[in-house]
Amino acid sequence: MSEKKLPVSGEKIAAIAERFGTPFHLYDEKAIRANVREFLQAFAWAPAFKEYFAVKALPNPYILQILAEEGVGADCSSMAELYLSEAVGLKNEDICFTSNDTPMQEYEKAKALGAIINFDDISHIDGVDQALGLPSFVSMRYNPGPLRQGGNTIIGYPEEAKYGMTDAQILQAVADCQKRGVSRFGLHTMIVSNELNIDYLIETAEMMFQLAARVKEALGVSVEVINLGGGIGIPYQPEQQRVDLPRLGREIEQAYRRILVPAGLGQVKLAMESGRMITGPYGYLVAKAIHYKDTYKQYIGLDACMADLMRPALYGAYHHITVVGKEDRPCDHVYDVTGSLCENNDKFAINRSLPKIDMGDLLVIHDTGAHGHAMGFNYNGKLRSQELLLTESGQVKQIRRAETLADYFATLDYPGLPQRGQ
Ligand SMILES: *Cc1c(COP(=O)(O)O)cnc(C)c1O
Repeated sequence: MSEKKLPVSGEKIAAIAERFGTPFHLYDEKAIRANVREFLQAFAWAPAFKEYFAVKALPNPYILQILAEEGVGADCSSMAELYLSEAVGLKNEDICFTSNDTPMQEYEKAKALGAIINFDDISHIDGVDQALGLPSFVSMRYNPGPLRQGGNTIIGYPEEAKYGMTDAQILQAVADCQKRGVSRFGLHTMIVSNELNIDYLIETAEMMFQLAARVKEALGVSVEVINLGGGIGIPYQPEQQRVDLPRLGREIEQAYRRILVPAGLGQVKLAMESGRMITGPYGYLVAKAIHYKDTYKQYIGLDACMADLMRPALYGAYHHITVVGKEDRPCDHVYDVTGSLCENNDKFAINRSLPKIDMGDLLVIHDTGAHGHAMGFNYNGKLRSQELLLTESGQVKQIRRAETLADYFATLDYPGLPQRGQ
């Protein structure tokens, strides 16, 4: 069981809502730091271990800065993400550029920052070499395709995924880069998503260790870093368990000793680019109940909508909800909890048993710290919420203001619309 607790008392949530207005995402700095420390500790046995936070999960520089203070780098896959990482002072091998279908300008920026370039496709190598010259260190993204079978319920089949190179291409790409003067190599993969089953995470490590051994055998190249990607799951549902990080670390250590060490690769550094498990459980979307509707079903309408959190609408994802001040009341009402978009899937919860909700009640939607605010969109002219940071000292700081109509109209040059500064 994972307990769905509030990061602060209900009274404090109410005071924050009073001061900043609703809706808002609230991120818990202390909990993020503690989680990162536990994660890094689980891999302290490795010759080196680097976590590159997947910036797309929570692209806010105040968060990236906290993570950087903990020794965490950035995994970027767009120009904006490279700029965000640069702004918080990350550079060189603290940035990993894991992109695909990549425009040359983005490679140029990544190279200028000294970032590790992780090639998604063999065809990019010649293009980058011609246009920019290859850096001395490059990484290759692996897609095992149908080689990775065995009945695992991996989210999506690798052979259906657009990412990465085949087994044969990896060998070809390393050999080719070596000829072009590259001297340091990394291998990368990302084939699981929101995975709570530790066995699949360990199998991914084993698969990559075997690949590194094959590269060594075939080409005599000892890769320097193996990046296991992201995809560690979090318990969105109260009955789910969080991944046992110390056990994950220990089991990957066993695979390392079993596969890499005998292959003469006992110095290989490890990396991951987790997003969800770093910040996901430590973010909360707080919104106010503003409408009650009783038709064929009972609806609670909030002042937030899927512009603030897409996951329920997009994936049918479960996000736990707490009604502030009613934590101990019986969940004897069944509601659909909705936003205001003209889209029937703009619902945070469907048929959810909750305590009786009154207008003005504050609802806390849990586990919104990753792929939450970041995914928001402006469809239907809806504006995205502010982001607040609950600092280690218990203060609350606004780290992104809410969007305004002027933001929404900023790309339109047309008279009569609200513009910035008016
Ligand atoms: C999205 C993504 C991640 C992070 O995934 P999580 O599920 O948030 O851990 C890491 N690497 C790449 C290449 C990604 O696209």
